[in-house]
Amino acid sequence: MAKKINLHTFHDSKYDNYEELIDYVCTLGLQTESINFLNQYKRLWKFASGKYISEKADSIKLPTPIYVKWNENALKNLYKNTPSDLSFYIKTLRRKHASRCCCFCGSLVTNSLDHYLPQEVYPQFVILKENLLPICSDCNSKKNALVGSKYQRIIHPVFDDFIDDIRIKVKFIFDVRSVDFRLVVLKTLDNKNHDLVKFHYRYLLKNTEVYYSHFKALFESYEDRCTDGEFESLFTLLEEFKTQENISYKQSKTYNNWDTIFYRSIQADIEALQHLLHCMYP
Ligand SMILES: [Zn+2]
Repeated sequence: MAKKINLHTFHDSKYDNYEELIDYVCTLGLQTESINFLNQYKRLWKFASGKYISEKADSIKLPTPIYVKWNENALKNLYKNTPSDLSFYIKTLRRKHASRCCCFCGSLVTNSLDHYLPQEVYPQFVILKENLLPICSDCNSKKNALVGSKYQRIIHPVFDDFIDDIRIKVKFIFDVRSVDFRLVVLKTLDNKNHDLVKFHYRYLLKNTEVYYSHFKALFESYEDRCTDGEFESLFTLLEEFKTQENISYKQSKTYNNWDTIFYRSIQADIEALQHLLHCMYP
């Protein structure tokens, strides 16, 4: 069974149970007007957060939030100007996520915490731990651009298998003098998951220069090493790719990191292997 991001527990009931956390936040020494709003909003806030979990953060199914601008700021300020009594909660989340990869694309370069549903549109989820995830800048801006338009659900690493679920491969396409790369969603997923991954892939991963330039640099480095005679046979080349796949998996802890995808895919691509060994374009 594939793993999901396992959100830790704080061993402290007021941080561990979100309804209790909301009650706790409403007792903090905030500005009187914020406290008044939060106390009035508390019931809807708890309801919205429960819906977030039960609807797996699907924005289309979430209730429309009710608040005016200054009230919205009271919620946003819980994250932006975190009251000191709440900062332990935020700091712990940051620390726990600090070494993780981007939960959308597997990149190892991430911000420590970002909002899955952006705080500008969904301030009611501004401190919900399921909504605070490590996301790289590229995925974060693409994801935010989707919200409010044709946004459907994209992969959410708390509710969907992402970390250990092999979803994508790279296809190597040879031209007369060069090689091109395409990301392909595997057909081994069931229909529901296949649609989810396809949407995720189409709007978050496709048309990104990041993976293209990364794959190109990796492929060219092996072209050079093969030309230099570093690998004696198909066997030694495959051994190298297997080793690198294991290293990148251990680093990123996901099969959906760019390196892991590259090394896994090239081992299964006889044309790419032949090309590297014999340095020929068809
Ligand atoms: Zn990313």
